[in-house]
Amino acid sequence: MDLTIPRTESADPYPLLIKQLLHTPLVWAPGQEIVYRDKVRLTYRTFRERVGRLASALASLGVQPGDTVAVMDWDSHRYLEAYFAVPMMGAVLHHINVRLSPEQVLYTMNHAGDKAVLVHSDFVPLIAALRSRLNTVSHLVLMTDDTQPAELPVPFEGEYEDLLSKADPDYEFPDLDENTRATIFYTTGTTGLPKGVYFSHRQLVLHTLGLIAGLSTSPLHCRVHSGDVYMPLTPMFHAHAWGMPYMMTLLGVKQVYPGRYEPAMLGRLLATEGVTFSHCVPTILQMLVASPAVKQLDLTKWKVVIGGAALTTTLAKAALDLGIDVITGYGMSETCPLLSLSHMTADMADWPEEEQIRVRTSTGRPVPLVDLQLWDLDGHVLPNDGQSRGEIVTRAPWLTQGYFKNPEASEGLWRGGYLHTGDLATQDERGYLKIVDRLKDVIKTGGEWISSLDLEEIIISHPAVAEVAVIGIPDPKWGERPAAFVVPAPGREEELTEALVQQHVATAAEQGIIPRYGIPDRVLIVEELPKTSVGKLDKKKLRQQMQS
Ligand code: ADP
Repeated sequence: MDLTIPRTESADPYPLLIKQLLHTPLVWAPGQEIVYRDKVRLTYRTFRERVGRLASALASLGVQPGDTVAVMDWDSHRYLEAYFAVPMMGAVLHHINVRLSPEQVLYTMNHAGDKAVLVHSDFVPLIAALRSRLNTVSHLVLMTDDTQPAELPVPFEGEYEDLLSKADPDYEFPDLDENTRATIFYTTGTTGLPKGVYFSHRQLVLHTLGLIAGLSTSPLHCRVHSGDVYMPLTPMFHAHAWGMPYMMTLLGVKQVYPGRYEPAMLGRLLATEGVTFSHCVPTILQMLVASPAVKQLDLTKWKVVIGGAALTTTLAKAALDLGIDVITGYGMSETCPLLSLSHMTADMADWPEEEQIRVRTSTGRPVPLVDLQLWDLDGHVLPNDGQSRGEIVTRAPWLTQGYFKNPEASEGLWRGGYLHTGDLATQDERGYLKIVDRLKDVIKTGGEWISSLDLEEIIISHPAVAEVAVIGIPDPKWGERPAAFVVPAPGREEELTEALVQQHVATAAEQGIIPRYGIPDRVLIVEELPKTSVGKLDKKKLRQQMQS
């Protein structure tokens, strides 16, 4: 018997659309504030009007459903307006990663087929340099914080505020198909050219609900609610700022957008706006907890989710000592991004601090609706025993269905019906994951796997080492052997030698912390390590360096 519910003419199927996220906040909290630095304060009511005006303004420039509209901005109320207005009118929002190299930005804009671009004045020189090679762009809109620059090197259609002031707030947003593409952005390209990932209205709405389910149901701590004050510290151009702006808007929360991340401004906003919830990569939290100005603030109401890279025990401890409720989140561009969060469960309330930190710094448990497994290289599911190491593979309602215009890479991503993260992890009986390495970084030596992260952790524990990166180098006998790049700690340049590092790892091997074959064959003392556009270690560059 076919149980499919037929469409009836009078009933509404209610497609899951981004515009539906705006119903309740405008009823619950129309007077709630959205703040931009020390420059702009809007209410949700005005924000909603401006979303309508932005759509009308774009339409009057000639933007139509199906077109792609790109944004080059720091975190702002304007970016939030584009998060809603562009997809709601049936166009696709391209979040340009402004930290990519100019050539990569050009590649992504041509690849995505951007038609209109909203450009913050900081990026006018960049857009001017690329303009003649942008194949699909026909409209540029300028966004300024202050007065418009007197001279512009390329023609703009107008200034954002000016266009909005002339536009109609009552744009009629259509009932789209919920599977309409809403957003596109590009991976940071540690391997080859940046790859485009894309998400539909339905996926973003479900991701928003998944975030709420993951973040607001913890029995103990780090719980998000409508009384929070939100400030992102992961850029809005990177993986939808982890989807938080959509969630916070749905909850009618006060939102604070800091523009370009400058420590003094961040500290000021944290204090004056009473921020209670943020998310960032470890390096930003590290910078903040080391800042004397920030340390003086009362941070006991601040909840922070760390992601993008592992939260170390040292950083977690430093944050907790300041009263910050810190946990880990895990995901990647391909996954919208949220997959897991490391909240503690009720029974952990009276665990010793050290044990609690172990949970907070784990890679967390999958959030509701995420089907997550560990697979070995042959695709067998591994047990949740806290020991077995396998690749994290996943299915969830909000994963990219492929790489944009790249069927070959899409096939690889979705081998065996699960999205392959390329992350190697363990999962314990309680469901907590622990990433041990990226599959491409793990060192395969003599049929065994050595985690480059484990080795790095041992090497960095020597006080003469400031920074370290470990990679596998090809070896005719063992397949691969570990090689370490180390940066000396200031003042200890003389002391740091290859033999010292090898001896340090050998001591760890004697204590059973790492196998003996983990002692690096080569140790290179360097002045600095290459980083990617988002500040992660660029091991691809190190591998190239070893080959040349
Ligand atoms: P890119 O893949 O270009 O570095 P992403 O932001 O998509 O950009 O990075 C996702 C990757 O970052 C994950 O696959 C994982 O390796 C790493 N990552 C993200 N969150 C965590 C975390 N909490 N702990 C450890 N690694 C993480």
